[in-house]
Amino acid sequence: MRAEIIAVGSELLSLGRPETDSLYISSKLKTLGIDVLRKFVVGDREQELTESLSLALKRSDVVTITGGLGPTNDDITREVVARFLGKELREDQKILDDLQRRYERFGLKLTPNNRKQAMVPDGAEVLPNPHGTAPGLFLKVADGLLFLLPGPPRELCPMVERHVLTIIRRYKQVNPVPFRQLKVGGEAESRVDARIESIYKEYRDVETTILSSPGVISLYFMWKGGPDLEAADQVLDELSDRVKERLGKSVYSNREEELAEVVGRLLKGRSLTVATAESCTGGLIGKLLTDVSGSSAYYLGSIVSYSNSVKAELLGVPHELLQLDGAVSEPVARQMAIGVRGKLGSDVGLSVTGIAGPGGGTEKKPVGTIWLGLSIKDRTKARSLLLPGGREAVRLRTSNLALDWLRREIL
Ligand code: ATP
Ligand code: MG
Repeated sequence: MRAEIIAVGSELLSLGRPETDSLYISSKLKTLGIDVLRKFVVGDREQELTESLSLALKRSDVVTITGGLGPTNDDITREVVARFLGKELREDQKILDDLQRRYERFGLKLTPNNRKQAMVPDGAEVLPNPHGTAPGLFLKVADGLLFLLPGPPRELCPMVERHVLTIIRRYKQVNPVPFRQLKVGGEAESRVDARIESIYKEYRDVETTILSSPGVISLYFMWKGGPDLEAADQVLDELSDRVKERLGKSVYSNREEELAEVVGRLLKGRSLTVATAESCTGGLIGKLLTDVSGSSAYYLGSIVSYSNSVKAELLGVPHELLQLDGAVSEPVARQMAIGVRGKLGSDVGLSVTGIAGPGGGTEKKPVGTIWLGLSIKDRTKARSLLLPGGREAVRLRTSNLALDWLRREIL
């Protein structure tokens, strides 16, 4: 089984918007044993879209097109695909009603432009989109399966999970690839690899992949030993159990799950609340914690204490400490954690102060120097980090390492 992916949108070519949909789609197709042969990124132009579609349909069983389903003039995917396949477009009353309701709910009127999104090519199946206005569309083209999908990742991802994979299974004989996953916090990629290499190298029928993002590592063990699925399950369980045992507390999940979700579950289970005092991360830890729905049950809030005066006045960090040790120091991190816990009335105070760069580093405190503070009831601790990377990477890595530290402390 083979697939090709077409990403449509001039912004992906010229305005520096990262093209990520294809990464998500290929990872999901891989779980069904479908290989992606080729990806296209094309602007909002009929000719390039038609050419890539024509090439893709010739060779592949599954073709996905993302983007260009919206209401604006440059959204041309629906019309171009219908024209290419020689299919009429018809207005779908149910989509129109849904659109109408959606716009009314936001106090908006449906414009003629918006009605474009209710147009469906003959014979297409409509894929509902609870997260946006443009539904997806599925068309069977000879033996091929063609999917038109919305571009925004938050609309696309649930639609792939819920509809695309199901439809592929309906029409094609797929060979799901058994796999296991482990998510690891608080450790560097090279260190994780060094610790587990001797284990996974024993398994010739498993392909081990280590993917790292700032502060979090994902381990994938994919079966490549043929059709004996019983053997696959047994071998994969054994391997992932051994790796889990070797890495101990560093493993925070065995499925696709964010660190903040696990931390939230632990806090809730222990009936603990947390508040954050963030300097160099500017609120990112709070953002990650509140990405989880229901986080108000354990997350009280944050004091983004960027300046010394906020550290002093709102968090009670003594001026002498700030002068003597500097804002990025152990005593300041400790006092920030104690201060935010007292001010917001939480059980746990978590603090960060550091130098995210690229400016602001000194010889004694180079860019990437971070102090974290954690205050739980009558215990307060601090630890320092020295992190590589640019400003964004330092901030994300710091936030994830802080969350992971909190996780380990309340396990
Ligand atoms: P909408 O109804 O939101 O307009 P759409 O299907 O028309 O949906 P586009 O207008 O093409 O989608 O894209 C909307 C935004 O989604 C883009 O500005 C971009 O940020 C994001 N996006 C589109 N395609 C991709 C992609 N392949 N990878 C990552 N992001 C994408
Ligand atoms: Mg567009």
